[in-house]
Amino acid sequence: MFEEKRDEVLLLTREMLSACTNCGECLKPCSFLQKYGTPAAIAKRGMAENNLLSAFGCSLCGLCDAVCPEALSPSSMFIAMRREAITLRLVDLKLYSPWLNYEKTGGSFFFRRDFIPDGCKTVFFPGCSLPGSHPDAVLALFIKLRQLEPDAGLILDCCGKISHDLGLVDKFQNIFSKLMRRLKTAGIKRILTSCPGCSKILKKYSEGFEIVSIYELLGATSSISFPEASGKVVAIHDPCTARFDSVQQQAVRRLLASSGFTIQELPSSMRTTRCCGQGGMVEATVPGTVRRESEQIASGVAGKTLVTSCGACCDTLSEVTATIHLADILTGKIDFESKPVSSFRRWINRLKLRFVRLT
Ligand code: SF4
Ligand code: SF4
Repeated sequence: MFEEKRDEVLLLTREMLSACTNCGECLKPCSFLQKYGTPAAIAKRGMAENNLLSAFGCSLCGLCDAVCPEALSPSSMFIAMRREAITLRLVDLKLYSPWLNYEKTGGSFFFRRDFIPDGCKTVFFPGCSLPGSHPDAVLALFIKLRQLEPDAGLILDCCGKISHDLGLVDKFQNIFSKLMRRLKTAGIKRILTSCPGCSKILKKYSEGFEIVSIYELLGATSSISFPEASGKVVAIHDPCTARFDSVQQQAVRRLLASSGFTIQELPSSMRTTRCCGQGGMVEATVPGTVRRESEQIASGVAGKTLVTSCGACCDTLSEVTATIHLADILTGKIDFESKPVSSFRRWINRLKLRFVRLT
């Protein structure tokens, strides 16, 4: 997966130095780059400790990649810098223990579940956020899926994105390869995701599996309508993890429209959507990031309810503006006044899903 990891950062910084024109387009929407300078300026500072550590202030949201007229990928350089900083043991991982403990606990025996019926080739992999905050929606999506594919299975586990984004290459590889081995051994061919973050990781690193968003599948097959949705205008927040996934973005819009909603686009959407502030765990080193970024998104909502397909975005944005998860709409459990779920409650929800009877 990461055979070239030792050379990766050198290759990417050299490429940035030679190809970045310092045009400043990527600085306009990004407070991290406004503070540290253009990607070429950052690359020029090389492997200095402070420079490598500065990459932990980048949310890895990819907005710079989307706006760069030279088609460069500054975000790839920043994750390579993170990996190098980890390799050189420059990072105080205690700063990230809440995230790492969340990942470790979510992937432990107590919360992991493989429900793989005989003949199963397709599994639903809802990730970590949605089972914690919207367990009923996970079950309802799974029931809908089983109506389409009676042999479909359910996998509760973590994809390792936290370790991946922190640059913990070996840890990520360990988590991810165990998951892939299990699914391969069980004969699984297709993985359906509801979390755009899992989707991005699985599409990038899994080999031999078809990765499809469950919203694409449902959008192509079902027509849903809700009396209370009729004529209601909602704004869509596209998760930054799906900014280059136009198929997923269109599936979300199709599902909302077929549910009776009228859609309002935010000032920044699809390819140029903004991160909710959770990306890259920047909050650990730059406190206030989540509040600032989520309020920036909320400022464009103009009184509408936000809808998003990402559990983490939904949790974050609902702290600053009315936000609902797409899964709740699809499963008929719309609560326009819903409040964020406490951390304790999330674990209880995940445990319930772990042990709920499935046949
Ligand atoms: S990935 Fe996002 S936060 Fe990082 S530099 Fe690019 S735009 Fe800024
Ligand atoms: S947009 Fe591209 S070319 Fe312009 S400063 Fe950013 S990385 Fe360099």
